[in-house]
Amino acid sequence: MYIADFELGIEEKILTRGKSYFSDGLVVDLWSEAPNRYCAVIGGRVHYYDAEIHLSANGEILHHCCDCPYDRGEYCKHEVAVLLAIRRHLEQGTALKQRGKKRGLRASLQKKNKSELVNLLYQLAYEYDLQGYIMNRLDCNDDDHERERY
Ligand SMILES: [Zn+2]
Repeated sequence: MYIADFELGIEEKILTRGKSYFSDGLVVDLWSEAPNRYCAVIGGRVHYYDAEIHLSANGEILHHCCDCPYDRGEYCKHEVAVLLAIRRHLEQGTALKQRGKKRGLRASLQKKNKSELVNLLYQLAYEYDLQGYIMNRLDCNDDDHERERY
């Protein structure tokens, strides 16, 4: 499968969802860890996911993965969104940020303990006036867990 026409190999429903993720700007970060090797963060209503795409020099998709739980098809909507973002970047010839895979935000956060994370969120909440927003998100997450249980 090639990035130029990957749509041909993807189920319609996943393609439609991926396209709207892309057009809604949910590919919140995209960088290159090496030539033709891309890492991305994809946002969502509650969860954010990490995806990776490796291409050959002529645009063949050599490797793709996403850490979301979707397993009903080869590609998920997040990967579709990232493929669209990479293709736009290639078409426009724009320079992507270069950084190692391990320098992603999630990897850095995972190294911190709970009290450091709570402190960081607390600081951000007051620095950027996000107290209400964060409280709402915490309530939403509780609702989601309730719903998943039933
Ligand atoms: Zn995914």
